[in-house]
Amino acid sequence: MLNILFINPVVREKGLPMHVPYGLGIIVAIAETLGHRFQVLDLNALRPPDQAIVEALRADRWDIVALGGITTTYGSVKRALQLLDGALDYRPAVILGGGIITAMPHDIMSLLPRVDLGVIGEGLQTFPEILERLESKRDDWQNVLGVAWRRSDGKVIVNRERPLVPMPEIDQTPYPAWDYFPLDVYFSNSSQLFSEEAYFTRRRLDVNASYGCALICRFCYHLGLTGELQTVETEEGNHEVVFGYRRDVRWHSPRYVVDMVKHMKNKYQVDFVCFLDENMMTMHRSSKGQWLTEICQLWIQEGLQPQCVRDKVPHDLDKCDGVHWGGTSHASQVDEKILPLMHDAGCSWLCYGLESFNDRILKQLGKGALRKHNIQCIEKTVKAGIRPTPNQIIGFPCEFFDSIRDSMTAWEELGLMVKPFFATPFPGSEWYYKYRQLILEQYDGSLEAFLLDLGDCTEVTANISLNFNKCELYGLREMMLNNDKRGIDEYEKMWHQHHDQPVLDPEKIPWFAKYKTGEEDKYREEIKAYSEGRLIEVVKGPRPTA
Ligand code: SF4
Repeated sequence: MLNILFINPVVREKGLPMHVPYGLGIIVAIAETLGHRFQVLDLNALRPPDQAIVEALRADRWDIVALGGITTTYGSVKRALQLLDGALDYRPAVILGGGIITAMPHDIMSLLPRVDLGVIGEGLQTFPEILERLESKRDDWQNVLGVAWRRSDGKVIVNRERPLVPMPEIDQTPYPAWDYFPLDVYFSNSSQLFSEEAYFTRRRLDVNASYGCALICRFCYHLGLTGELQTVETEEGNHEVVFGYRRDVRWHSPRYVVDMVKHMKNKYQVDFVCFLDENMMTMHRSSKGQWLTEICQLWIQEGLQPQCVRDKVPHDLDKCDGVHWGGTSHASQVDEKILPLMHDAGCSWLCYGLESFNDRILKQLGKGALRKHNIQCIEKTVKAGIRPTPNQIIGFPCEFFDSIRDSMTAWEELGLMVKPFFATPFPGSEWYYKYRQLILEQYDGSLEAFLLDLGDCTEVTANISLNFNKCELYGLREMMLNNDKRGIDEYEKMWHQHHDQPVLDPEKIPWFAKYKTGEEDKYREEIKAYSEGRLIEVVKGPRPTA
């Protein structure tokens, strides 16, 4: 039996702890099922001072310290590992998993030398295999699929990827071990301003009912859960992770999903469930319209339908039993026929990543939807009695005044109140790899500085807009929020006085179309110009003089 300390790092310093870490919760449940001893130190929920972390690290003698999460946890992971080194006079094995290492295992293993093993992509089978080896004191890591490890000479080795757990075996995944996380903290942050029911909820937990998304949006980052992650051999026995267009979406059976929600309701008195799925509607389409239909039917059949929906009366927190829920949809994939049934089963909001109302931008994103789909999906969702939450983003590579205006007119027509996020090239997204060198130039070549700067997209971090600098993006967003069309017209005139032509298609820029990661030296001048906001000069010639 091993003694494991699981650490849930801080996801975003500025953000409240809103979600019990779902993936880590499952990994903890796996360790419990296997009979290991363990404790959970939830830094994200508790935000303890360093001294309290050190005391927790010294509270027992650990065989393993396991931690992980998405890329924005980098700063917290790094700090926890620094404290670990100073706190203990022995050396537990450190395992890191999740998106933070999946997208760039070599980089992260170099930046975090205290990490002994990295779990790349899905950990459901990899983690137990690692535990088995550590327990039997074996170190033949070259035989374990889906790990990054250190050879005796210190070199980081990335093994071949591990095949994903197929359907229906994925239903054998244990529920997250919620009991070991400070649920009082998470319940106190249950409220989400997505719908009346979501706002007034007393106890919300999350469900992840499916894995991945069938679409290929170029700004969306991948976690290696859809068959999109592959490895290519770089030298004998060593590999690099690459993301392709393969999509093997998987989903849990309606029975698994509904039984989990019943368990949450019975054990934790949950009244709202937030589905974390990347895109529920794509699963519904992939199952030929069965998946959401069966979930909704079973939800009602098993007594989870909220009373207010059943009796067609306004939602009253003190009277309403059952469980309301919200999830993710997609503008062109949304199935109008399923929406009324979703409403009847208690769905109160659906999140749509609409991103922009400009067709040129939407096509460049690979969004699989156009302006007309964005408009139609809002109308269909409202008609079914479900609140659409429309995500908008500005600062895409070819964002320009036309796309900004298109979004503003759509907001006006549809009556949307929305504050756009800023396009952010998270590691694991196609645009991170395409613009990697351009991104790093903005941080004096420091990948770590970029990782530490990443947040929740409400601020500009690495700017990938080819037409606007950071300052312009903040100003434009402010004018969009104020519907200040005159201000935008005035600024466009000024912009043209200082620039020649905008970049509306990066593939038409001769050097950019040819540029590939690894050819930084060849395009050094252009990349530098980009990072200094002078790209247009390089592309089209110097700015006109007065
Ligand atoms: S539809 Fe959403 S989840 Fe799917 S690839 Fe696009 S942004 Fe990502």
